[in-house]
Amino acid sequence: MGQYIAPLRDMQFVLHELLNVEEELKQLPKHADVDGDIINQILEEGGKFTANVLFPLNHSGDREGCHHDKTNHTVTTPKGFKEAYKQYVEAGWPALSCDPEFGGQGLPLVVNNSFYEMLNSSNQAWSMYPGLSHGAYECIHEHGTPEQKSLYLPKLISGDWTGTMCLTEPHCGTDLGMLRSKAEPQADGSYKITGAKIFISAGEHDMSENIVHLVLARLPGAPEGSKGISLFIVPKYLPNADGSNGERNPIFCGAIEEKMGIHGNSTCQMNLDGATGWLIGGPNKGLNAMFVFMNAARLGVGMQGLGLTEVAYQNALVYAKDRIQMRSLSGPKAPDKPADPIIVHADVRRMLFTAKAYAEGARAFCSYVALQLDKELNHPDEQVRKDCADEVALLTPVIKAFITDNAWTATSECLQVYGGHGFIAEWGMEQYVRDARINMIYEGTNTVQSLDLLGRKILMDNGAKLRKFGAKVQAFVEANGTNEALAEFVTPLAELGDKVTKLTMEIGMKAFQNPDEVGAAAVPYLRVVGHLVYSYFFAQMAKIALEKQDSGDKFYVSKLATVRFYFARLYPETAMLIRQARSGSANLLALEADLF
Ligand SMILES: Cc1cc2nc3c(=O)[nH]c(=O)nc-3n(C[C@H](O)[C@H](O)[C@H](O)COP(=O)(O)OP(=O)(O)OC[C@H]3O[C@@H](n4cnc5c(N)ncnc54)[C@H](O)[C@@H]3O)c2cc1C
Repeated sequence: MGQYIAPLRDMQFVLHELLNVEEELKQLPKHADVDGDIINQILEEGGKFTANVLFPLNHSGDREGCHHDKTNHTVTTPKGFKEAYKQYVEAGWPALSCDPEFGGQGLPLVVNNSFYEMLNSSNQAWSMYPGLSHGAYECIHEHGTPEQKSLYLPKLISGDWTGTMCLTEPHCGTDLGMLRSKAEPQADGSYKITGAKIFISAGEHDMSENIVHLVLARLPGAPEGSKGISLFIVPKYLPNADGSNGERNPIFCGAIEEKMGIHGNSTCQMNLDGATGWLIGGPNKGLNAMFVFMNAARLGVGMQGLGLTEVAYQNALVYAKDRIQMRSLSGPKAPDKPADPIIVHADVRRMLFTAKAYAEGARAFCSYVALQLDKELNHPDEQVRKDCADEVALLTPVIKAFITDNAWTATSECLQVYGGHGFIAEWGMEQYVRDARINMIYEGTNTVQSLDLLGRKILMDNGAKLRKFGAKVQAFVEANGTNEALAEFVTPLAELGDKVTKLTMEIGMKAFQNPDEVGAAAVPYLRVVGHLVYSYFFAQMAKIALEKQDSGDKFYVSKLATVRFYFARLYPETAMLIRQARSGSANLLALEADLF
């Protein structure tokens, strides 16, 4: 069923030629010894594991789905998932970027990030099990007590236990302030938690010994709304002091959802009936603690979009070279055959290039942000750490929303390359489209990401974070503005930088008069910022490719063509988006709801 080959060459280009990770990591005492060879070896091994073990289970996992047994509340994952997880654990993959103090390998997040791209390309549904565990690890690592850390982190790092995030309830998804689950304090310092959670990914399954649920609930007398939410660690089995499984905790899967995609991942209704939990992150500080998990997950969901874009592209490319239909408009290109391969047709190339450009732009973007995260956590200079933290905060909603929106487009274009065969399940393309759709919804819908970017990250700090990123763009423009060979890339980058500044000011002014202006502009605004980010990275990649295009390595020729396609065919969307963002709220809000 199709193919997946980890795009090692492009990953290495991004890490070593675009981002110079080896030099960057040398500045971080914790990672100073990580050299390029180590990184390449890990990625090669990751490529083998994902292609040979996970990818073969992607289609079968989708067809089979998960099985729920109502009598004993168990969930069985699709055939092969459990065995693949065992191999993953035995190879030490869960520990890659985790803290050595608790059994991790301590490698940089930027390396883990590339590995996660491979996981998501090969099997998004499977990869959500360890992906959520990693989020739980990060949350407990940052907010857990020393006892919680020593009990839970080694097990999450080894992969013996997995994690979940239990936020959503039937009546509240986006608006967590309305959540109702209750936590009653007990004499021994624990809590009894009661409530109903829905849509909990990996909430119940057969892959690990225990499941560590991170559950949002309210303490008695807690303030209304999001200020009254606390976070609790609620394990499926209450752990004994030595880490072995004790009593079964009453947090049970009542049902699994029938859904559009990611069938191999169990999406569970979880019922808590006086389940024992322990507070993490302080009373009423639950959302603050959970944000560690949510931010990690938002970056992770962006990576899901990248992973699907890449694998869909790879398969569409193979198909387009093989499938013969019609002749090229300018005369036969394969005269020995009854028709030309469809890759000769301009519009098939447009579809392929769209996916290729979105994959390569996203790869550069995600790797850059992962490196900034490494610097935020480990750079010796406090100001650098702060600047990196600001940049990661600014760009997280863009990663989540821009990449997953693009992945929806890209997977759909790749399906289209197959014509009717794309719509037929056996080719595997329709699965990528279905799987891509959820990435725009969970972890805060893409609308919510757009509101976060424009409202919280930009307007609420008077554009300070955006200006910092803008200064980097400006520095590149100034350094390369006189290079004629680069003008075709630098000019549109500089123009878009100016337009984003003006657009931001205009919306900010309007928002003073009418807060609805933010909601009306946010979605197109985020896409404009996404294009600014991509223009910045594509212009840098073009510079490298121009310098090396005569080296004999055709990779640079291909890279340059992709960048030219991006600026010619994808970037122009910004003109329309800016008009939409400027059009104001009246065209959306003037009509009374009952006149729709
Ligand atoms: C397969 C799957 C897996 C999931 N996994 C998990 C999980 O592991 N853990 C977990 O806790 N949850 C999980 N979720 C839940 C997911 O995060 C929510 O579905 C999502 O946050 C949206 O909430 P909702 O579905 O209640 O939609 P609603 O909040 O009801 O939103 C409906 C629509 O209104 C829009 N909207 C809402 N408020 C605004 C606003 N202020 N401005 C503009 N538009 C607005 C939304 O963007 C959306 O389009 C999962 C969901 C699915 C489907």
